[in-house]
Amino acid sequence: MTTSPLSGAGCAKHAGVPAVEVCTRCGAFLCAECVEYVEEERPVCASCAAIARAQRTPPALKAAPFLSVMGLIGIVEGFLQRGRLGLVLWALAIPLGFTGLALSIQHGRRLSKHEGLRRPGFGWAVAGRLLGLVHALASVLLAGSFILFLVSRYFRAP
Ligand SMILES: [Zn+2]
Ligand SMILES: [Zn+2]
Repeated sequence: MTTSPLSGAGCAKHAGVPAVEVCTRCGAFLCAECVEYVEEERPVCASCAAIARAQRTPPALKAAPFLSVMGLIGIVEGFLQRGRLGLVLWALAIPLGFTGLALSIQHGRRLSKHEGLRRPGFGWAVAGRLLGLVHALASVLLAGSFILFLVSRYFRAP
């Protein structure tokens, strides 16, 4: 706990008690009793600390980019493993990646509702969406080329 000189400012809650910190989110003067520390000793008031805790990166948001990467790997691997195994891999990889995209959009939206504080999950949300979109594009291309392949095969048949 640092005792920064706040030039005689008093606590916002306790009259006559000198403030030792200022809330980094709402700017309220805080006495030693009122101050709480979050994320690497950042001083905040009790209500801002509650928001900071609620705002912690949800695990699903962190899982989303991995799901999309697994989906992408599955699509590539499906090309390498020709035949039935490739089709099974594609059938697994496509919904997996879309699950990742859906999770990152859903949890990313919840995250952006809390404004004002540094958003620890923001990078995860961006990564999840980017990878999810790459996966979605790959899935669409895959489905399109697969349909073209089936159509060309159908017309080539005698
Ligand atoms: Zn505050
Ligand atoms: Zn106080």
